Amino acid sequence: MNAPHVMVPMVEVDHVSRRFVRRLNYAERIAGWLGARAAEHVVHAVDDVSLTIHRGEVLGLVGESGCGKSTLGRLLAGIGAPSSGSIRTIEKTAEPSALSSAPDGVRAGRPTGRPTAPPTARHRLATQMIFQDPLSSLNPRKRVRDIIGEAPLVHGFVERKHLDAYVADVMERVGLNPEFRDRFPHQFSGGQRQRIGIGRALAVKPDFLICDESIAALDVSIQAQIINLFVQLRRDLGLTYLFISHDLGVVEHISDRVAIMYLGRIVETAPTVELFAHPQHPYTIALLAQVPRLSNRKRQFESIQGEVPSPLAPPDGCHFHPRCPHATQRCRTERPLLRSSGRAHEVACHLVEVQ
Ligand code: SF4
Repeated sequence: MNAPHVMVPMVEVDHVSRRFVRRLNYAERIAGWLGARAAEHVVHAVDDVSLTIHRGEVLGLVGESGCGKSTLGRLLAGIGAPSSGSIRTIEKTAEPSALSSAPDGVRAGRPTGRPTAPPTARHRLATQMIFQDPLSSLNPRKRVRDIIGEAPLVHGFVERKHLDAYVADVMERVGLNPEFRDRFPHQFSGGQRQRIGIGRALAVKPDFLICDESIAALDVSIQAQIINLFVQLRRDLGLTYLFISHDLGVVEHISDRVAIMYLGRIVETAPTVELFAHPQHPYTIALLAQVPRLSNRKRQFESIQGEVPSPLAPPDGCHFHPRCPHATQRCRTERPLLRSSGRAHEVACHLVEVQ
């Protein structure tokens, strides 16, 4: 996708952490009173992440399963609150929305905004999330007209008398036939269900879409169609995306910038072309080495050595040090901070020269 010419911050994530605590059950508490060692389990899902997402850009967020990328996406969508740190959303100045071609009664644009602290109702509507499994994210008892039309009706984007036309407009925009508006989700294919999910998100005129593995459950040919739909919607509506995926090939295709996440921390960010041409963090280098390309089709692929450590007890210092072939004593004790290494490239590694 083409990157925006002027980089205007839209979401600022400042030292955000999210911890999940499993409280002791009754038996464990009694065992503790009797002298047994029983401690609460704390999962460090997101660990001190700072990040800026610019208006109109597609930021790809990549990492292995369990690295915290979905949790970070949910925090940005206002689903749950950070344990510490802050997320600041900067709303755009009012301007006609592309969906304002919808019939009279449809409210266009948004009021002028100043930086707001989420979660607020405005933030929740301006930021929408598209999930991996379209079937389980849609209410099986509702017809498409209700799935897409309920939120804009409740939140005053459209009057009831114009709802049918509004839903038809949204369905056409996401490539669905409006004649199917009275069908239920199970009457559609997987790709069509994902289009319903995208339509439901678009119906409240968001600025920012968080796509959490949104194409991972689809067939490859359908994946291409949905990616093309995301590209077209960005072009038509000026949307901003956080595209969460473990598939580096897809991320390279769709993103302007990429952030690599490992065990709750961002370890590298750079413009897509720069990151794929000059990866600097040992984890990113290892990840990219596993992407099949025409140029390396004859080589033997090796997985990254070792297991991902448990987020219940992440290693001290650099989280990657138990798996890193370049680890030193310093890596075992001192956390590397994310620093600029030039060309809009930021890396968290003691071995990378800071600019
Ligand atoms: Fe490897 Fe050390 Fe860099 Fe971590 S800080 S990636 S352990 S060299």
